[in-house]
Amino acid sequence: MEQEIIEVKKKVWKIKTLPKIRTFLWGAVSGALAVADRLQKRGIILDTVCKLCNSNTESINHVLFQCLPALEILQSVNFPPDPSSIRSLCQNIKLALEMMSDVTISETNRRAIPWLLWAIWKNRNSIIYAGTQISTEVLTHQAVEEATIWTEVNSPATTLSSLSPALVIAPRWSPPRTGFVKCNVNANWRNSSSLYGGAWITRDHKGTVLHNARDAFTGAPNRLTAELCCIVWSMKSQIDLGHHEVIFSIDKAFAALANVAAWPRYRSLLEQIMVLKTRFRTASFEQESERSNSIVRDIARTLGGPAWFHNRIQDEAHTNI
Ligand SMILES: [Zn+2]
Repeated sequence: MEQEIIEVKKKVWKIKTLPKIRTFLWGAVSGALAVADRLQKRGIILDTVCKLCNSNTESINHVLFQCLPALEILQSVNFPPDPSSIRSLCQNIKLALEMMSDVTISETNRRAIPWLLWAIWKNRNSIIYAGTQISTEVLTHQAVEEATIWTEVNSPATTLSSLSPALVIAPRWSPPRTGFVKCNVNANWRNSSSLYGGAWITRDHKGTVLHNARDAFTGAPNRLTAELCCIVWSMKSQIDLGHHEVIFSIDKAFAALANVAAWPRYRSLLEQIMVLKTRFRTASFEQESERSNSIVRDIARTLGGPAWFHNRIQDEAHTNI
């Protein structure tokens, strides 16, 4: 039993998901989530009845795998495959982990499992502490979508692991996959008191320019704020232009977008970007080197002449075919 828990904990740390979800799952296996039966054991509360169904003792296993909202949400991925079996918490989490690597299950469903469990836990908390309730269909949809976006942003094909951003810098501009649009974004920030220039340029898989824009913005306190403001502006522009599948190539803001929780000072702008992301079918971010992002850098810096601009675009398009 003890050995089984240790094994499951080890596997939890390897799950491909957000660090906060890994921490939550680790807490679940460890019995460290603050549910009624746990609190009672510590002498904190006496009423251990689950507030969601008013009929069972609120244990971690009950909240995550047995209570009605949990059953409804997990049903979307056919979990558990044998609804009549009774399992311990550790056995349930173990089974969920096994399903994540079961290739007979669709990839979308498999990778959503950690997000679905996280949605079940957040839903329980918002009902108990905030008195708010969202339908389980919406929660399920959001969880699957967040898992898809996270996987897209973190897949080696599009961007790169937040663990080693230095490895993912593209030495030169490369085109997006067919059907996708690549949007290079740059902010030319100098100091907190001046206006700064921002620019974006979108190109298709052949390197053909679809649109580009330049604008001046009022002072930002630092370079990262300026770049994040430009990303917000470029995302809104792509939505207006009807581009639904976009890879945003950015510079310094990549580190903040790859690990939002670690940049609390920029939370408001990062959250705006995360909300805008949900309005795309696919929106991902990749980090470009100074060189590969140099065209948009030059547009942000100057109004530019049509001759150099045309030559540079041609040059990049040809070197990538
Ligand atoms: Zn319940």
